[in-house]
Amino acid sequence: MTFQDFNFNEHLLEGVLSMGYTTPTPIQAMAIPAILNGDDLIACAQTGTGKTASYLLPVLNYICNTHKHHTTALVLAPTRELAQQIDQQVEGLAYFTGVSSQAVFGGGDGMAYEQQRRGIQNNVNIIIATPGRLIAHLTSGVLKFNDITHLVLDEADRMLDMGFQDDIMRIIGYLPKKRQTLLFSATMPGRIRTLAKAILTDPQQINIAISQPAAGIDQQIYRLHDGQKTPLLKMLLKDGGYLSSIIFASRKEIVKSLYKELKSAHINVAAFHSDLQQNEREEILLRFKNKQLPVIIGTDALSRGIDVEGIDLVVNYDVPGDPEDYVHRIGRTARAASKGTAITFVNNRDLKRLKSIEELIEKPIALKELPEVLQSIEAPPREDRPHGSASGQRRDGRRNPKRFGNNKPSRPAKQ
Ligand code: AMP
Repeated sequence: MTFQDFNFNEHLLEGVLSMGYTTPTPIQAMAIPAILNGDDLIACAQTGTGKTASYLLPVLNYICNTHKHHTTALVLAPTRELAQQIDQQVEGLAYFTGVSSQAVFGGGDGMAYEQQRRGIQNNVNIIIATPGRLIAHLTSGVLKFNDITHLVLDEADRMLDMGFQDDIMRIIGYLPKKRQTLLFSATMPGRIRTLAKAILTDPQQINIAISQPAAGIDQQIYRLHDGQKTPLLKMLLKDGGYLSSIIFASRKEIVKSLYKELKSAHINVAAFHSDLQQNEREEILLRFKNKQLPVIIGTDALSRGIDVEGIDLVVNYDVPGDPEDYVHRIGRTARAASKGTAITFVNNRDLKRLKSIEELIEKPIALKELPEVLQSIEAPPREDRPHGSASGQRRDGRRNPKRFGNNKPSRPAKQ
């Protein structure tokens, strides 16, 4: 199958080909005909599968062919980063069509709000918005949604996780009842099905290998204790030959301290977390995208949406609590059929989490041997050593006298 088979408007097809897309991905092959047919759709697909273009292309095709000069499509997305990336894909795909779009999200300064307001007033064809900020524009009266024909919910599960359910229902209250609604979600818990029942009409259903990481990702784990994590990370970044890497950590405090350690080891790195201003976050993402910045460290906020080609390494500095987050994190590499490496650091406390991940992805992850120079590093106080690992690490069970000298019971330190 090729993109020519969809009979797209010629200017749109020109955009698709100029983006370098030749063959539709599986989600595109299934979703595009259904959407072109006018059906509502519920699709289970993760980022990295080409899902964004799978809904953008038929929506753009509709706008091209109907020559509408007002806002006809609304895309809701959980984060500003994802909203901006969807907007960038619209810009690329619609480059030769004259279709316009505006990303609407919170967190910017007054100027950003004003710019979004102007875009909305200029009747852009497509609005891509986070729910919270969209409500602000809706209540200010500047938005008119009478002519919306297409509503897309992207990463619906994430939006519900972030507490946007009420906002979504409120926004839908402003839309015409007669419309085409497309719901995309990486997972399909019961509450997504309930939401789908409430807002979709007789939808077609598409399921793309739920929660399976892309086949091109070489997944590896290291069993280690916390004292070995940063030295191993430095080795990987300095000697691994990777050109573009993302490091994920569970909390921003870890992100910040890791950032300092890597900086002092002369690694060109930036930290990405919620304390940064919007413009700082954008600047980091831009430098990373342009390959001026080889390493970025962030929390899970970074794992959704960041759409950068050519990331060859993802490191999980700790194991994410939710196995789905693991799939999202490692999905930042090997995007659209390329190859990449995903390395996860697993200490004793994370073994249960690792088990849940391996159950979800239905296979064990390859265990790598810790480099010999790191094996003799002592575990920090209150840290359990790994139980019998294949890497032959020490397991002498000695207690740290400073911590345990008074024989008080101890619990493993929380990460
Ligand atoms: P997504 O799953 O929408 O986040 O897309 C993942 C990446 O795949 C993005 O960088 C897209 O530009 C790219 N992509 C989408 N569709 C195709 C395709 N048919 N061929 C090649 N790359 C694609």
